[in-house]
This record gives sequence, structure tokens and C-alpha cells, in this order.
Amino acid sequence: MKYIFVAGGVMSGVGKGVATASIGRILKSKGFKVTAIKIDPYINVDAGTMNPVEHGEVFVTEDGVECDQDVGNYERFLDENIYTENYLTTGRVYQAVINRERNLGYNGKCVEVVPDIPNEVISVINSAGKRSKADFVLIEIGGTVGEYQNMLFLEAARMLKISRPKDVLFILVSFLPVPAKLGEMKTKPTQYAVRTLNSAGIQPDMILARSVLPIDEPRKKKISIFCNVSYEDIISAPDIDSIYEIPINFEKENIGNRILKKFGMKSKTSDLRDWQLLVNKINNGHKEIQIGIIGKYFETGHFVLADSYISVIEAVKHAAFSQNMKPVISWISSEDFEKNSKSLNELKKFAGIIIPGGFGNRGIEGKIKVIEYCRKNNIPFFGLCLGLQLSVIEFSRNVCGLKDATSAEFKQNSKNIIIDVMPEQKVLLKEKKYGGTMRLGAYDCKLKPKTISAMAYGQDLISERHRHRYEVNNNYKELLEKNGMVIAGTNPEKDLIEIIELPKHPFFVATQFHPEFKSRPLKPHPLFKEFIKACVKKDNK
Ligand code: GLN
Repeated sequence: MKYIFVAGGVMSGVGKGVATASIGRILKSKGFKVTAIKIDPYINVDAGTMNPVEHGEVFVTEDGVECDQDVGNYERFLDENIYTENYLTTGRVYQAVINRERNLGYNGKCVEVVPDIPNEVISVINSAGKRSKADFVLIEIGGTVGEYQNMLFLEAARMLKISRPKDVLFILVSFLPVPAKLGEMKTKPTQYAVRTLNSAGIQPDMILARSVLPIDEPRKKKISIFCNVSYEDIISAPDIDSIYEIPINFEKENIGNRILKKFGMKSKTSDLRDWQLLVNKINNGHKEIQIGIIGKYFETGHFVLADSYISVIEAVKHAAFSQNMKPVISWISSEDFEKNSKSLNELKKFAGIIIPGGFGNRGIEGKIKVIEYCRKNNIPFFGLCLGLQLSVIEFSRNVCGLKDATSAEFKQNSKNIIIDVMPEQKVLLKEKKYGGTMRLGAYDCKLKPKTISAMAYGQDLISERHRHRYEVNNNYKELLEKNGMVIAGTNPEKDLIEIIELPKHPFFVATQFHPEFKSRPLKPHPLFKEFIKACVKKDNK
């Protein structure tokens, strides 16, 4: 097994995750088995307790870990499922070590930060690699070099290199600014980053030069001399329109074979034909399709973030690319519709509307108004998790006549709690056990024949990923069905409602699960595909 550590220099947000995922894709295209691990240096045991505005989307794996959005990038680029072991945080590592100490797992030894913490990190990395029988394990260390928080993870990398000198490689993804007033790419911050890495006992083998522009020859030479890295191992990584083009661009710089060479392995050709076809489609699809996402996790100070809904956005793109369309996605805050209901008319310009997952009261009534508008005006509508719950509430209020219909998440004392807390969740909430306790990960769903969903999937039993505490209250099932709502999918073990549809509508589908987590660029999700097809139809009318 070979290990490739990826760390970031100069600043965060330089695209380490996508760079790691792209290298993985390249090695996979050379016939190797690859897996990727994300290390987040914070104390939180997982990403589940963090506000998405703070940390971006919470991605959910098959086995129900709430993790960093980069894990989503790994799954999408590698087209492999990523499991529990592939996600580490400082909190997780310490929790494991402390639990072992409490169980006398250290045989009376004094347990110390070094080496016991880095050793735990190494052992998790090894078990992740073994589980996926990987030839290459890519390990992305979150944060930026020089931060106090990720020191112990760099220490683990250094220690692994001592025990297996021929099997460990370090890649630094560093940012090279081009200050507007100077108009010249500067290398000094990267030189400092490498020095900082050196002081942690690590010499990078390769530098990915992230910048707005490709790095030129004089600057490559400069970095090579000052940072002690061969000229050929400085890889140009300029900004690009589509992240899916990155593996192709990296391969132009021959990164795959450079990596193999460093490990003393023979060169191999990459087969990126399917990926190249995807990139051609992305670049050639000129017909635009307008999709609106109504959410609330967008704003941070003066900036607008798309990160909170990254898997939804990628899933829309995959489906649109497959239909040779260019998706134009707008983010709209649901609260806008609460202040000014006239703005609902603006929804007309969209070919389709998505209401993604969410938590808490804020913005709820605005979303319900949007759903009502889409239902009445035949605008293709796709609801995800909270999107399903609110669709059922809207339908109960405005079609079934239950004016006080609501969810126990928003109001506990209403007569008509259409969305109720799941029984096993009640105890957890009472005991304030919030972290990692939702209904998480993959569960089966049985589809009703001849529904939009059954036709889209082309099978009758599916499995999708979940993250929720509340569920449609089955006491209202009959009433909903009597009024025309179709229960298109149900969980067979617990008889939970998983998909609803409205038949006399161009596309009105909502799921209790999160289909976006399973969409892959080369395998768009069937429901997203169906949704986009309906959007295209609406546009062509
Ligand atoms: N807040 C809702 C629940 O907990 C929906 C969650 C979600 O959208 N992921 O059930």
C-alpha cells in the first residue's frame, strides 16, 4: 500500500479536496485501486453538529457518518463509496484513544499525545486502506500548514514516512497570489509554506501551484530552487470553470506517472476516455436551463456561499450534463418570500425548483409558499428531506384542509402534527444526545409500481441515504392518499414514507432521503435526471 498525503499551503479553500479527488481519479484510470481519507483538525467528533454556513455541507456516507463535503468529492471523482474509517477529526481520534485507555487497552502504560495520538491516526489510515484493498491511500490533511490544529496529523504523516520511507509521498497544494496592483504571480508565500512544512520534518515531493493563472517557467524554476522540489514536480493548477476538467488538466502535466516514478513504479497509461467525454459534454452543452434552489444556508457576512448545498448542486449538474444542458443555478433565500409574497411570481422564470434539506423554524413559511406556488402553477418541483416534509404540510393545509398542519420540529402543541418525531428519536432528544444520532445512512425503500420514481429507477427496491429525525405521521397517510397524494416509496421494515408524488403535475416529487449523495458525474441520479427532463419539457413549451 502506498500513501499520498495532501496538505495545503498559504490559505484554506484552495481546492485540496478536489485536487486529492482528481489525483485519485487519475490513479484509478491507470488501473489501481484507490481510496481517499479526509482529516479535519477540529474537535467536533463529526460534521453533523456544525451549522452548514460555518462548515459547508454535511455529507452522509452509506454507513451513516456525517462528514466533510470533501468526502462527497472523493465519492464523485473516484466513483467509490467511502466509509467510516475514511473520515478523521481530532475529536474522533481522541475519543478512540480515551475509550481504549478506559478499557485498559494500553496495558497500564502512560498514554501520551505523542506518539499515541499519531499512532492512532496511522492505524485508522491503515484500516481504511485495508478495507478498500487500496494500492493507493490518499490522505487529505485539512486546514493549512502552520496551523496549530493539524500538527499532530502532520506528525502522523512524518512518523509513517520513517517506518515506510519508500511508501509515503507528500504533496503540497499551495496558493500563488496574483495581486491586482502588481499583475504578477508571487511565489514567496509558497516558499514560507514549504519552510513551515520543513520545520514539521516534512519535505514536499510535489507542489500543486493553485492560482488564477497557469504557473510559468520562471516561477516554476524559482519554486523548484527555493523549495527543493524538482521542476517537473511543480504542477500547474489554474482556476477552471468546471472542477471535472481538473483530472484532465493534471494529466497534461503528467502527474500520474510522476507519482508512480517517485514510488519506483513503472509508468502506466491513463484511461480517462469516459471522463474526457464528460468534459466535452460540459463544454459543449450551451442550452441553458434555469434551476432555483430555495434554502437558507447561503449568507455569511457580505458573501454568499454555495457550499452548504454542494451535493445538490453537483447532482443537478450531472443530470443536466447528461441531457446536454448547461444548468444555471440560482440561490434564493426562503425568507424573501415571507417578507414579500409578490416575489413568488419571480419563480416563473425557473424551469424547476428544488427545496433541499434543512433544520429548524427559520424560513419555513417561505418554503411552504414556494411549494404551493409550484404545485398550483405546474412548475417542476423536487423536494429533498425537509423538502418532502414541507410538501406534505403544504398539501395537508391547502388540499386536505388541515389549516394548522405542521411538524413537531416547528410546533409541538398543534392538533395536526403531520410530521412527527420518530419514536426512537424522542428519547435521544430528551437526553440531549444530538451528535450522530439521527436516522443516518442507507436504508431500503420499496417503490410503488408505475409511479414516476419506479419508472425513473427501473427497479422496485432501492437504497438511499438519510439524515433526519422527523417523519410523515402515518395516521395521516389515508387522508393524504384520498386527496390525491401518491406514496411512491416506503421503507419496508418500518413502513416509513420515503417518497411522495403528485400525479396531475408535470413533476412533483419529494423524498425523505437525500438522493444527491449518490449522484456521480458519470452516473447521474435517476430522480435528478427525471426532474431535469421535466424542466427541459417545461422550457420547450
Ligand atoms: N429537519 C428535518 C428532520 O430532522 C429534515 C432534515 C433534513 O432535511 N436533512 O427530519
